[in-house]
Amino acid sequence: MFTRLGCQGRPPRFSVDFYPYASLSHTFRLRGDEALVRISDLMRGAPLQALEAAAGILLARVYRKHLPAGLAESYRRFAESGGVRRRMNRIRQRRGRRAHTGAQGGAYDLGEIFARVNRDYFGGRLSPLEIGWSVRPWERQLGVFDPGMRQIVINERLDRLEVPEYVVAFVVYHEMLHQGQDAGRSRCRMGLHSPQFRRAEKRFREYERARRFLMRAGIW
Ligand SMILES: [Zn+2]
Repeated sequence: MFTRLGCQGRPPRFSVDFYPYASLSHTFRLRGDEALVRISDLMRGAPLQALEAAAGILLARVYRKHLPAGLAESYRRFAESGGVRRRMNRIRQRRGRRAHTGAQGGAYDLGEIFARVNRDYFGGRLSPLEIGWSVRPWERQLGVFDPGMRQIVINERLDRLEVPEYVVAFVVYHEMLHQGQDAGRSRCRMGLHSPQFRRAEKRFREYERARRFLMRAGIW
């Protein structure tokens, strides 16, 4: 596409990945002679024409080239197709930035817990992100890690003094494991928890106690 659009000079080294953006968006960043390209993972399995069109749109923008009408048209057809729209709506619901009330809850400060768990279990390697309590209590889910939004939200039901701190820390630890593996997925589903993930989970010191508490509370 670089050549086809008439971009001059030597092309950068392209490094292209799918990325779980909250919408059909793509980004392009030049760093030295490397071009870091992220294509919305809504385009996974898209027809070649649509992928070429997305590349063309990015390149035309960055290199200020005219985008051939044919490309604009095939991209539009793809973006407006029923399948893409349905997937986008589903993803919007799932990936929208979740409202939260901040890290400091009535009983526990998630920022403090994050920092401690990061130090104790991850050697401080995880980069800080937005963490907070859900606005409303959730029925089923304990927490969510969202890689696109760089956000962890924890079920407000756990922000109670009757809930031991190690339980909250365990739930935060679980979401941080997702952050560590950053599988590019957006929420906790059973399918995301590989046997390897489950083994890592058991490294949490109060794993058994925390699990028993959550089971008794009916939220495991
Ligand atoms: Zn999970």
